[in-house]
Amino acid sequence: MIILKFIIITLLFFFNSKELFSTEINDIRYGFNSGVNRIVLDLTTDTTFKKKIFPAEVKIIFDKPVFSKSKFSRNKDLSNINFDEKSSTISLKFKKEINSVNVYFLKKKKNKYSRIVIDYLVNIKKKRIIVIDPGHGGKDSGAVGINKRLEKDITLKVGLLLKKKFSQLDNFDVILTRNNDVYLKLRERTEVAKKFNADIFISLHADSNRNRRTRGISLYTLSEKASDKEAAALARRENRSDFLGNVNLSSESSEVTNILIDLTKRETLNQSSHLVNFLIKEFKNDMNLLRRAHRFAGFTVLKSLDIPSVLIEMGYLSNIKDSRLLVDKNYQNKITDDILKAIKKYFLWKEKNNT
Ligand code: ZN
Repeated sequence: MIILKFIIITLLFFFNSKELFSTEINDIRYGFNSGVNRIVLDLTTDTTFKKKIFPAEVKIIFDKPVFSKSKFSRNKDLSNINFDEKSSTISLKFKKEINSVNVYFLKKKKNKYSRIVIDYLVNIKKKRIIVIDPGHGGKDSGAVGINKRLEKDITLKVGLLLKKKFSQLDNFDVILTRNNDVYLKLRERTEVAKKFNADIFISLHADSNRNRRTRGISLYTLSEKASDKEAAALARRENRSDFLGNVNLSSESSEVTNILIDLTKRETLNQSSHLVNFLIKEFKNDMNLLRRAHRFAGFTVLKSLDIPSVLIEMGYLSNIKDSRLLVDKNYQNKITDDILKAIKKYFLWKEKNNT
């Protein structure tokens, strides 16, 4: 009888023990595997659970009682670990939004612990920094068009309009090299891009040509060799702005040559070309493009070491139609809409290609 009592008491104790009916979270470990962050919960027994995934939280609700004797440490992504024994729930709260969350279970088998693994990526919602450079300004009026329309005024108008449109999107920051009628040296313009660590640099211009019939948009990227005589002459005209500021450009030519053979530069030029392609695609829909719209020349203002840079000649001030369009609100709206769309698409493409 005593023995039976003893057995019953022992059995009751045994079956009542937490260890048997419940599982223990022994530890929470952290890891990082090929770009993926990992959280591992070590459990003393195999268990089933439900998971709830929120933008910045993962909840694990166990199907049997859970307890823990240890206090858990956190990794840098977690703001809080809340463990509620009553509801058998562990809640992992993150400082930032996470994505690509994958929660799975690994059975104990020969291991000491069963494991719940939580893989995730931290959302990097970095703002893209776009430096827009309204060409010319102040004592440098740029091209003078029909009816004395000045390039410097048109580039500023379009620049300000672009900034306004981009400010309505939350993942872009637009910085203008100038927001009023002020003279800037070309180097000062690229310095802005460097200072703010710009993702792209876009210089706005309006061209002029002796042939008054020439019209349309053209886009330029940097090259030590100009794509044609006209592009070379244009680069000379645009670069001339620096002479107004008494800057000697001749000392820069060797530096530029060095830059051009740099691989970083080559990649940057590649990126600039991609950006041009996206711009051309947008302009093609509703704008007048110059034949061979993408041209190359040695523009000082595009000589930023590692920032994809494009110079847009938005039309010809020497052409009656273009000259009218360039000061027309509808045209300025259309061209800025296209630039905005192209830039958005360029960054989407970049994200997809992980560049
Ligand atoms: Zn210009």
